[in-house]
Amino acid sequence: MLRSNSDQLHRVKMIRNYLPIILFVIVASYESWEHLLLTGNFKLDFHGTSEVLFFGVIGPTSVFFVLSYVVSLLEKQMIAAGELEALNITLEQKVEVRTKALAERNAELAAANEELQKLDELKSDFVSLVSHELRGPLTTLNGGIELALQDGESMSPESRRTLVVMARESERLTEFVQTILDVSRLDAGKWSLNLGAVAVTPLIKHVIQLLNADRHRDVDFDEQRGLPPVWVDETALEKIICNLMTNADKYSPSGKPIELTANLKHRHLEITVTDYGAGIPTAMQSRIFERFQRLESGDRITTKGWGLGLYFAKALAEAQGCTLSVRSPAHEDGEYPGSTFILTVPLANEIPADA
Ligand code: ADP
Repeated sequence: MLRSNSDQLHRVKMIRNYLPIILFVIVASYESWEHLLLTGNFKLDFHGTSEVLFFGVIGPTSVFFVLSYVVSLLEKQMIAAGELEALNITLEQKVEVRTKALAERNAELAAANEELQKLDELKSDFVSLVSHELRGPLTTLNGGIELALQDGESMSPESRRTLVVMARESERLTEFVQTILDVSRLDAGKWSLNLGAVAVTPLIKHVIQLLNADRHRDVDFDEQRGLPPVWVDETALEKIICNLMTNADKYSPSGKPIELTANLKHRHLEITVTDYGAGIPTAMQSRIFERFQRLESGDRITTKGWGLGLYFAKALAEAQGCTLSVRSPAHEDGEYPGSTFILTVPLANEIPADA
């Protein structure tokens, strides 16, 4: 670029220097020729000389000045182009240095990421192993306590009470180990889903029965007829609904019902679980789905839990194309604002044939 500009400048300078001389020679020759035709000799008189000087100097001089101006413009353009090129080179060098640094940083991050993934896998394997190893002895322990309690009559009331507490705590520990095992399997992508067409109404009724077997809580299920089947893993969906209902039961006062609905919404089915508990503050509504998150309320002391249920339920829901969210308050009533957990589930007939 710079080279072609300097060639151009050189040519314009040549034209500027020689063109006025050529023009002068042309004018002088023309005037001499005209003088020869008119007078028959080459000797120029005053009139001829002044014509040569007038036309042969003014024209070429003007051409010289105009071309000088063009030369000065070209020189300025050349300087600017030179500066631009220098700037470009500096920039290119800077970009090259930065690109190299970024590539190095990227490689470092990729290595760190790989390391973290390995550690995470190690942690998951460790947690799974420990949970597995704990499950066996716990099953034996639960069975033993249950057997001992069957023979409770022969025991002193004190021993029986201790055994009942042991049974409850051991059951809680078993539940915890199972939750940890489920979460680590899901996190490690080792939870295999068996997707298929599932009828929601019988599944919900089954969950209500399960809940009623353990606790006494009124459940109002607004049963809709003719709901289309959904495309999910039946056991996983049951676990999610069970989890939401257990929470609704845990976090609402006795005597207040749990409300359950299942409705067709555009291209999916919406299942809602509503309670009459203390509700969930807006700022915490997304956080309760994170691991080990529990609300800072009185419930935290009175209600046992690990803050893993909703994390697990949401992850399990998303793994099969569902969504899980919460809306609170659910009621106008200030004393029992409550919460509504909303689960959207894909319809079986909306799933492409090759899914
Ligand atoms: P856990 O119940 O074992 O603590 P979860 O992940 O199921 O764990 O719930 C996380 C937290 O969200 C709970 O500790 C509780 O503070 C809050 N929460 C969950 N469900 C409800 C509900 N229905 N009403 C009020 N708070 C709730």
